[in-house]
Amino acid sequence: MENIILIAAPGAGKGTLAKSLKSKYGYVHISTGDLLRDAVNKGDDLGLRVKDILASGGLVDDETVYEILKARLKEDDCKKGVILDGFPRNVLQAVKYEEILSELNMNLGVVIVLDVEEELLVKRITGRRICKDCGEIYNIYNPMMTPKKENTCDKCGGSLYQRSDDNEEALKSRYATYLEKTQPLIDYYQKKNNLYIVDSNKDINYTLEQVEKILNDLGDSSD
Ligand SMILES: [Zn+2]
Repeated sequence: MENIILIAAPGAGKGTLAKSLKSKYGYVHISTGDLLRDAVNKGDDLGLRVKDILASGGLVDDETVYEILKARLKEDDCKKGVILDGFPRNVLQAVKYEEILSELNMNLGVVIVLDVEEELLVKRITGRRICKDCGEIYNIYNPMMTPKKENTCDKCGGSLYQRSDDNEEALKSRYATYLEKTQPLIDYYQKKNNLYIVDSNKDINYTLEQVEKILNDLGDSSD
């Protein structure tokens, strides 16, 4: 399958889409957060270095991230296709990523941008409720995701809470930052002709259908 870079605003459904593609096609989902956590858990030299940086409250530098990403991409399961989530964040990282891919003889694949109206993002974010005991996620504005009993987890009966930064003001500021930071990256990939904008204003199945169509069309044309 084509490798995928996913770009989307917070709350646009990146995680859910990645999960569906993973279970349906065997994609490997690589998010930078998980990547760093996995590296630490491995406990090799690189992992120990990351652990030290994180423990001291520092930010992991780009070079280290590249190194970890490259090591991960080398692993066998990535041959089925990878979904990158949260990386690259800027054009510099995008260029470096292509260098890594070419060293590993891998293709860039497609860049998919999930497009969601800001108003809908606000609902998705401000309606989010999380179980304090098991971490299950609900949404009071989405009939498919409301708990059966108000403020109570269906799975474990724990009570639900709202994260303090899941409010409208914080979302609007996060969204503005997202647009500002992402635009240069979108322009960059648009010029490369591998960018696809997917309407993600409806449910996950609708989003998934569009993504599958993109992947299938590409598969047909390369036959
Ligand atoms: Zn629960």
